[in-house]
This record gives sequence, structure tokens and C-alpha cells, in this order.
Amino acid sequence: MAGLYLHIPFCRQACHYCDFHFSTSLAKINPMIQAMKSELKLRATEWKDECFETLYFGGGTPSLIAPELLLELIEAAKSTLHFESELEVTLECNPEDINGTSLEAWRSLGVNRLSIGIQAFDDHALTLMNRIHDAAGAKHALELATTYFERISVDLIYGIPGRSDAQLMDDLSTLLDLGITHVSAYALTVEPQTALERFIAKGVIDPIDEEQAARQFNLIMDRLEDAGFLHYELSNYALPGHESRNNSAYWMRKPYLGIGPGAHSFKEHERRWNVSNNPSYIRALKDKTSFFETETLSKRDHYNEYVMTALRTHWGVSLDYLTTTFGRAFKDYFTMISTPFILDNLLFEDEGVIRATRKGKFLVDGIASELFMLELQSPKDED
Ligand code: SF4
Repeated sequence: MAGLYLHIPFCRQACHYCDFHFSTSLAKINPMIQAMKSELKLRATEWKDECFETLYFGGGTPSLIAPELLLELIEAAKSTLHFESELEVTLECNPEDINGTSLEAWRSLGVNRLSIGIQAFDDHALTLMNRIHDAAGAKHALELATTYFERISVDLIYGIPGRSDAQLMDDLSTLLDLGITHVSAYALTVEPQTALERFIAKGVIDPIDEEQAARQFNLIMDRLEDAGFLHYELSNYALPGHESRNNSAYWMRKPYLGIGPGAHSFKEHERRWNVSNNPSYIRALKDKTSFFETETLSKRDHYNEYVMTALRTHWGVSLDYLTTTFGRAFKDYFTMISTPFILDNLLFEDEGVIRATRKGKFLVDGIASELFMLELQSPKDED
């Protein structure tokens, strides 16, 4: 089984914290869709033996694209690739694009899951992050969306300077009252060369308070777990049965095909990424010139990626999987290097699976990187 990711690289305005690939120059939307259709056709042979179980429109802001153009992409994908009948089709959307007409159109395209970028029901925080929508608009959009779609995921941001714990809890209550079944909660982070970095450097916005972020991470975890949600990945919570199949496949290291500028693909031992520049991508597809780079992953790369992704999930790192996939030397290395974290109550072992404890969860990315195997440490490939 595989996943298809279609990257729509356009946004109406730049959020201050964002370092994804997108452009606010919307004139090139049509040529971009045509280029993405060309890429789908070009890569069909290489992916013809895979059965796709998910189709994900990410971005950028896919919801700003006319439904007719989204349909062109879906039809191009279905005419070139093989899809499962129970396909999960997710569309990332922003509240300002949500209305009765757009919801109806997305549903008729076969979209059966929305991922909505709400971030906060708070005008001050939304202005600080340069989001287009306001709190009232977000709430109205979400209420309306629930009348058209059962499967809705909401993105929230915590650790926003000046935002209290009580305000964050009110946001969660709003989501729970509306019957939302999936929440992705991300800490506000300062990425290099973003407006947020510049505003903090100039003292316009307060710096990120790590203690606030850690406390709010725990509050979200408590509130959503009390409401019956599974904390199935560090940033993701779902009621049982409402987990994102697209994201789960990614964390389980299933193959995925990424189409569009900046999109990544992964299959067997190869990772591939497209140029993150809209005009260069469109030109290359038109001129049939190269538009991507590739890297072949070593066994050590695979091990490091598995440890990083698995430790973030509730499935954890399986010692059996380490042995069967990488060999006993890798499993012994992992066991040896993870022991101090188990003794510090940051990780725990349960029937051959290592997971993060509550105390370790917020720190899990740093812990995982301590468990990586560096080049000099690579054991021989034999078991
Ligand atoms: S809408 Fe999403 S992709 Fe676009 S700038 Fe904002 S966070 Fe980034």
C-alpha cells in the first residue's frame, strides 16, 4: 500500500511562522496544475505496481484552488495510478475558504476528510501569526464543515507568546463541543528566516517560552486523553478509528509518491525531493529537464529514521523489528544506548517495545537523536 501526496504551493498570505514551500503569487495556478499532471504521467510507470490507499492535498493552501482544477488532478491520478476502493482523500483547508458551496464541491470530488488550519480561536494570536481568518470566522467555518464532513482534523498551535493555559483549554472545549474527532497540536517554533524570527529578534514579539510550551503540551494531552482521544503520534490525537491513514502510513514507513514543487517521495531505499521553486518546476516539466534530487538511504539512515518516527508514535520502537530489519548488531546498539533513558524514566519497555513515558514525550525528538547511530558507530552488516 502507498500514499499519494499532492503539494499545492500557493497561499494568499504568508503566516509569520511558516517555512513550508509556497508562493503568494497566484497567477501561476493553472500552469502549476498542468505541470503536476505532467509529473503524475511521467512517474506512473515507476509506481504502477503500487496500490494507493490515500490521496492527500497538502500545501500551501489547497482549498484556494478551484474545485475544477482539483478534479483535473484527481482524474489525472486515477487515470495513471491504481487506487484502493476505500480511498482516504484529505484536503487541507483554511477557514476563509470554507462555505456551503466549497464544502459541497469538495464532497462531490470524493474528498472524505478535511484538515482545517484553525490554530487558535483568538484574534490577538491569529494576528500575531498573520493568519487571514479571525476567531469568529474560524468557529463559523468549523460549525459549517461539521454539517458536511464526519472526518475533520483541526490544527492547533500552542506555546504562543502571551496566550494563557485557560485560553488554550477554551479552544479545546470548542473543538470537543463541535464533535471534532482528530486534532493536530503543534508547538509554535521559530524557523530560520521567517518573519517570526525577525520580529522576536527586534523585540516586537516575545520569545518562545519553553516552559509554557511544555506545560501546554501536557495540558492538551490530559484534556484530549480524558475525552477518549488516543495520543497516537507526538502531535496527533484521534478518537479510535479516526486516525489519519495518510500520516500513519508515513510513520509506518510505507512508500509515498509526492507530486508538485518541494514534494518528497519515498520508496524502498530511495528518497527523492522536487525543486522548491514554482517557476523552475513548471519550466522543467514543460522542457522535460530534471526537477528533482535523490538520495539512497543506507541501513544506518533507515535505522535513524525508524527510531525518530517510531519513538514519536504510540507504536514505539520494536526490538524484534530492529533485529529482523537491520540485524542483531543494530538491536544491541539500540538496547545499549536507550538504557540510560529508561533508567531516567524518559523511555520504558513493554514486551519488547520501547516507548516514551509521559515525562519523555515532550523531549522525544531530542531523545531520538541521542539514539541515532553515527557513521563511525555503524556495526558491520552481519548479524
Ligand atoms: S496557510 Fe499554511 S502553508 Fe500557507 S503560509 Fe500559512 S501555515 Fe504556511
